[in-house]
Amino acid sequence: MIILKLGGSIITDKAAKEPTVNHNHLNRIAREIKNSNTSDLIIVHGAGSYGHPFAKEYSIGKPFSSDEDFQKKRMGFAITQSWVKKLNSIVCDALRKHGVPAISIQPSSFITTENKRINKADISIVDSYLKKGFVPVIYGDVVLDEDPSIQMAVVSGDQIISYLAKNLLPERVILGTDVDGVFNKNPKLNKDPRIIETLSSLQELDSVDSTTTVDVTGGMIGKLEELLKLAQLGIESEIINAGCNNLIEEALKGKKVPGTVIKK
Ligand code: ADP
Repeated sequence: MIILKLGGSIITDKAAKEPTVNHNHLNRIAREIKNSNTSDLIIVHGAGSYGHPFAKEYSIGKPFSSDEDFQKKRMGFAITQSWVKKLNSIVCDALRKHGVPAISIQPSSFITTENKRINKADISIVDSYLKKGFVPVIYGDVVLDEDPSIQMAVVSGDQIISYLAKNLLPERVILGTDVDGVFNKNPKLNKDPRIIETLSSLQELDSVDSTTTVDVTGGMIGKLEELLKLAQLGIESEIINAGCNNLIEEALKGKKVPGTVIKK
């Protein structure tokens, strides 16, 4: 089984002020997924400009200060949930259009967190869909949090990947993003970045600078923290550039493609 992440940076314009889909990338990737003929596949996608701007505006995941603040956050939660659901519909439609039997799984309907970490999630339904040959499509969403001081949180696609991988033990975990892998420094902000082919600790980076865009879930550092925890359990993952033609397809087919492998 393979878990494939489609980063918010690739399927949306992450820097956009309004929710904006990158249809070119999405359609090409949907075609590549179909062409790869992968049978046992779970797709997780990020929220990009469909989630981060709202989660940030309403400070979802931060403690609330008053009743009024709680009510504002509650409305912000509902708004965010609705936008990420729209993105998920667009992603599933693109996959189905290319002949992939995509089935939407909504995190806010069955996952809860405690202090922003997933504490309850019955993922047996994901397994049941997989067994029947569906391709479950799960995504970064807002969820209820059991910590009374925050009550609502954002759960990133990266945290979902790590939870699913721990519980379902896939053969491979592939993350498609908008850069060629992990570099010693943010390649979008620095000259002469050097790609790190195999990473086993955050110490291998020169500086810990999270991302170039608004990312309420921690950008590249948040992603690496999740993947390094997985690596400790013996589950390797690879970060590749989903913006390059055919890389997702080749990776799904089991070929070695350029990128960064995160391992123990
Ligand atoms: P996604 O939305 O695809 O999950 P993120 O936006 O969370 O991806 O993270 C990818 C971004 O992380 C890149 O666009 C890059 O600007 C930024 N980044 C920051 N530091 C690094 C680094 N050391 N190596 C690679 N990318 C980095």
